[in-house]
Amino acid sequence: MSMMDDVWTNAKAAVDVVGKKAGQVIDKSKLRFAVMDIKAELSKKYRMLGKIYYEANRTGKNYDDSMKALQESITELHKQLAALKEMLANAENKIKCPVCGVYNAKDSLFCSKCGARLSVKKQDEEYSQEELLDFAEEIMDEDDI
Ligand SMILES: [Zn+2]
Repeated sequence: MSMMDDVWTNAKAAVDVVGKKAGQVIDKSKLRFAVMDIKAELSKKYRMLGKIYYEANRTGKNYDDSMKALQESITELHKQLAALKEMLANAENKIKCPVCGVYNAKDSLFCSKCGARLSVKKQDEEYSQEELLDFAEEIMDEDDI
């Protein structure tokens, strides 16, 4: 029972903390710290989700509510992370690649990662499968699991 309580408390606390930070950030170093915090929080949430999933399968108990809460918390963190990255890129005058989402120096004509032309703005803010995998990898790299 205590594990579930922790999940709820942590999920709520994380959203509050990050929300406050996002509202406060003004300069680039603060933005970078906030990005790192959110990534660490995301990493923790993914691990918790994995643990609950494992326990649910192992014990046959229903942890749907907890998993849903975590899922929502993760979605919220992703939104905040995207917003922070956008703010950081704007602060550095960078332009976002419409194809792969990587930020490039402001006078770039083509994306440094995928080579796409950098003139059309991406309308759809959804992550592609590839972006999500890249992102998960990025998080895992920074984490010593
Ligand atoms: Zn690109």
